[in-house]
Amino acid sequence: MIRIHQVKTADPADLEKQILKKLNMPKKDLEYWKIHRRSIDARKHQVQYSYVVDAKVANEKKYLKNWDVFRTPDETFRFKPAGEQRLKNRPVVIGMGPAGLFAGLLLAEYGYKPIIIERGSAIEKRSKDVDHFWKTGELDPESNVQFGMGGAGAFSDGKLTTRSKDVLGRKVLEDLVSLSANPDILIDQHPHIGTDGFISILKNARKRIEEQGGTFFFDTRLDDIEVFNDSLCAMTISRLEDENFEGKLDDVDVRTRITETLPVEAMIFASGHSAEDTLRTLEKRGICMEPKNFAIGLRIEHLQSYINEAMLGSACHQKDLIPARYQLTHTANTGKGVYSFCMCPGGYVIPSSSALHTVVCNGMSYSDRAGDQANSALLVQVTPEDYGSGLFDGMDFQQKLEKKAFDLSGSYKAPVQLVSDFIEGKISDHFEEVKPTYELGTVFTDFNTILPEKIAESLKDALIHFEQKVPGFTKNALLTGMETRSSSSIRVVRQSDSLESNIHGFYPCGEGSGYAGGIMTSAIDGLKCAMALMNRFERPSDLN
Ligand code: FAD
Repeated sequence: MIRIHQVKTADPADLEKQILKKLNMPKKDLEYWKIHRRSIDARKHQVQYSYVVDAKVANEKKYLKNWDVFRTPDETFRFKPAGEQRLKNRPVVIGMGPAGLFAGLLLAEYGYKPIIIERGSAIEKRSKDVDHFWKTGELDPESNVQFGMGGAGAFSDGKLTTRSKDVLGRKVLEDLVSLSANPDILIDQHPHIGTDGFISILKNARKRIEEQGGTFFFDTRLDDIEVFNDSLCAMTISRLEDENFEGKLDDVDVRTRITETLPVEAMIFASGHSAEDTLRTLEKRGICMEPKNFAIGLRIEHLQSYINEAMLGSACHQKDLIPARYQLTHTANTGKGVYSFCMCPGGYVIPSSSALHTVVCNGMSYSDRAGDQANSALLVQVTPEDYGSGLFDGMDFQQKLEKKAFDLSGSYKAPVQLVSDFIEGKISDHFEEVKPTYELGTVFTDFNTILPEKIAESLKDALIHFEQKVPGFTKNALLTGMETRSSSSIRVVRQSDSLESNIHGFYPCGEGSGYAGGIMTSAIDGLKCAMALMNRFERPSDLN
């Protein structure tokens, strides 16, 4: 097989003709072809489809001389566990976000029968808890947008963005397709699933892991670990006694938990970035951690029709190009990097708190991306200079902002401000065409009085710059806060070869441990940690 890059056409129906033309090939030489990747380039308002094509051809050697033609690489995932230390207990995965899920899938595939412990609820109950919060403002701090089956990726835009073109990225996409994702994700340049697509994937993944001998414990939290001779030897977990508790949780979680301690020698720790309680406990047990730079900011909303026009010009009604997306970056006059992040075309700004009395927002879309508005995070890089050099100073800084936002109304209403008013430094008193999609209500504010001065200055400078790049970007645009949970402020240190922490058998994994940012990179890191575990440990002897 040969791989042909940069096959361009204005009409996808013409693709075969363009392959033949590009290689100056008679039709009889082209035995078979399929699309490996496709992208659409709508720059300069001229739409061009660009393809990478795999083809079986006669006279292969002749065509390989061509500039854009290579032998198709072998992208099959191959792995043979080399672990020699036999496990006495089944391996444990903490968290069923993308990292824990893909670690669990691989361990199960290789017969390791993992135990997956998730503090939040299974997706059926979790969906109801999230919906209840969005409608009533009653938050369950253990089952919400951050915590529960599927992790932070479940109620997301489901962009499967990664720069990684390696075999593991391909395996993640192929696994997702085998679990019911649309096969287009294998070839699209910007693959996307949507929150509705994720739900069935999660249910299928659970079924597959259980069929392969894995076990799930939902509403069950890792509370502590025990270490002996620098090796992991036990864990304490606690399960909610009544996961269907119907009382109100006001200031604190008053529910009763049943606690037990179990032996464990191998654990993949994929808790995500909001499990502050767990990270604080692990630090006390001697797990080595370090602070890392992260980013905070606000979410910006526009009319999707404006974004379509601004990005696509005269092609703004072309069905396969819309809803359009954007990506913007700027180095502000403060020296800080500012960038758009996790842009959700046709999406919604959603209440995303996991801790009581905090306001956090993020973005979500459905698979059809049919909403009237576009939203995106606008993030500013922050460093210990902004919040202090202590290990948990970054988390304290995030929480202070989230609590400040809550205190504005004493509720989960989100602070909002028109972009033009933010630049002028005045509280807004009306909405324009863009109305907030944040479901729990809003409160007008001046973000200049909430955000630290340097961060507000950086955002304003970037917005003025973005207006020059994309005229209209600051007009008829709405800001919502607080976008504080886009990345982890802590890294759980691990060895570069074994992927273990300073404690043997403990594998820090995914976004919360500081090794990923997004669904794809977290899932890939889950696979890496599962392979590292299997290269050190052999399956328990009583497992066939
Ligand atoms: P998480 O997904 O955070 O999962 C961690 C899991 O661990 C959670 O389920 C949690 O309940 C559990 N847990 C925590 N502590 C414990 C404990 N002590 N015991 C047991 N379980 C525990 N990324 C993209 O690439 N594309 C997008 O479109 C996108 N949209 C997003 C939209 C929203 C609303 C949000 C919140 C995030 C979005 N992201 C997106 C980011 C992406 O979801 C995360 O990068 C990704 O989920 C991180 O994966 P993870 O497995 O490392 O952690």
